Amino acid sequence: MKVQDMAQNLYSDTRGQSERPVTFTEAVIDGLAAGGGLYVPERIPELSLDEIGALAELPYAQRAARIYRAFDVDLPAETVEALMAQAYGDNFDDERICPITSLSADTHVLELWHGPTSAFKDMALQCLPRFFSASAAQLREQGKLDHDFLILVATSGDTGKAALEGFRDVDGVSIGVMYPDGGVSDIQFKQMATQRGRNVQVWGVRGNFDDCQTGAKNVFGDEAFAKKLQDEHRIALSSANSINWGRLMPQIVYYVSAYAQLAADGKLNLGDELDVCVPTGNFGNILAAYYAKRMGVPLGMLYCASNENRVLTDFINTGTYDISERPFVLTPSPSMDILVSSNLERQLFELTGRDAAAIAGWMADLRGQRRFRVDEETFARVRELFASDSIDNATCLDTIKRVFEQHGYLLDPHTAVAYQTAENLRGENPVLIASTAHWAKFGDNVYRALHGIEPGAPLPDDVAALSGCKLNELIARETGVDDIPHGLAELDALPIRFDEVIDGGTNDIEAAALRFLEHLDD
Ligand SMILES: *Cc1c(COP(=O)(O)O)cnc(C)c1O
Repeated sequence: MKVQDMAQNLYSDTRGQSERPVTFTEAVIDGLAAGGGLYVPERIPELSLDEIGALAELPYAQRAARIYRAFDVDLPAETVEALMAQAYGDNFDDERICPITSLSADTHVLELWHGPTSAFKDMALQCLPRFFSASAAQLREQGKLDHDFLILVATSGDTGKAALEGFRDVDGVSIGVMYPDGGVSDIQFKQMATQRGRNVQVWGVRGNFDDCQTGAKNVFGDEAFAKKLQDEHRIALSSANSINWGRLMPQIVYYVSAYAQLAADGKLNLGDELDVCVPTGNFGNILAAYYAKRMGVPLGMLYCASNENRVLTDFINTGTYDISERPFVLTPSPSMDILVSSNLERQLFELTGRDAAAIAGWMADLRGQRRFRVDEETFARVRELFASDSIDNATCLDTIKRVFEQHGYLLDPHTAVAYQTAENLRGENPVLIASTAHWAKFGDNVYRALHGIEPGAPLPDDVAALSGCKLNELIARETGVDDIPHGLAELDALPIRFDEVIDGGTNDIEAAALRFLEHLDD
């Protein structure tokens, strides 16, 4: 079948500002719609129970290809199959890609961290870059694009590594990542500083994560710099951040796949309801569960788990999203430390029956007054679908200890927040807990948990002196849980490739980016 013969599923934006709906490939390349809205597909495909159940007979990559085909992406079927085979192959340390560990007959942990960086971001970032590159190639062929891309990412630690690993050696794209110098863990620093690949660059930035992010934003807003990149290097800047539809879609796959797998394994009957509990930050992961439900997967309640940054819990419980006087709290689950949860916008778009005017109004309220309140009908829809709880730092660490003592299974702090939320909220249905990081990415807090040390309190001197790798080895010896992923275990032995530290001013970042591009051109 030729691309142009396919029934096209186009993408419109949540604020109704785009001139025309765009194709999947355009949505992936654009990321954000004009006017600041987020792209959503006009049609959500539905699968029958039999079609869902049948997915379990396929390897994961083919399950993913099926779902992309159901969404009618405007790429040839062979291309989709080939990209999925690369995205979900032996770059994962388990051939099931995201295996499920059942802690009891009705508590199932979906392990989303078997990818190359041991974080759930790999599920999306092993996939998106390949589709980004293929989309750019197709648009180039159609004469709609005449340049390559520089992906610029500001990271507080985990996303940067997953993005580097996803974009490394991908055609037509290079990637530069900025992290706060001294503000990431030893493991996170080494994961980034030892990154392999010909098209990658990493900088420490003097300052904190906010400085990195502001620096990146300023560079994205500098039109003169954009023109220089285009004229001299035929390159455009892109961010590939978590609002890109191409990052969301791979996440829908694992919920459909997990349901099919549980049914195939006899852990539930096809058609039984399964509740889902997701440790939530930007609302991408839990939104993917919502879309899986819309596709026909019999998911029940969606439990939104927050840490002490409980803006989403308060929103789901009150209908008001309010950051006007909300402090930003540091927690043992930093990837959920967030105030503005950007994918909530897509969720509200769906729950209002796709009312772009309402969304544009609420987002303007959020910018202007730092709060918005949804109408009663929308709030009622939120309450039907979601329940939420927030877990404090001490309870998070207690949960790691308790689950280890009960089940001999180590949770990372993000997953622990979800586990405890599920315990607090669950009803009759079995629960699927989204596990978003391997424990060894957060060894310091796992050590605190197991030794009853309070959150934020210093580790004993001899433990604090250990490298991240050595600390993980100590935990593995003490617990007997000896499953440290190769990519984390080998870090002390790898050469440091990137140790440059730059200032976070717009000019400093732009100069560093140009040096990187010139070096690439050589
Ligand atoms: C990014 C991240 C989350 C939050 O996921 P969202 O899709 O932003 O809600 C949770 N846990 C870990 C470990 C993450 O890296």
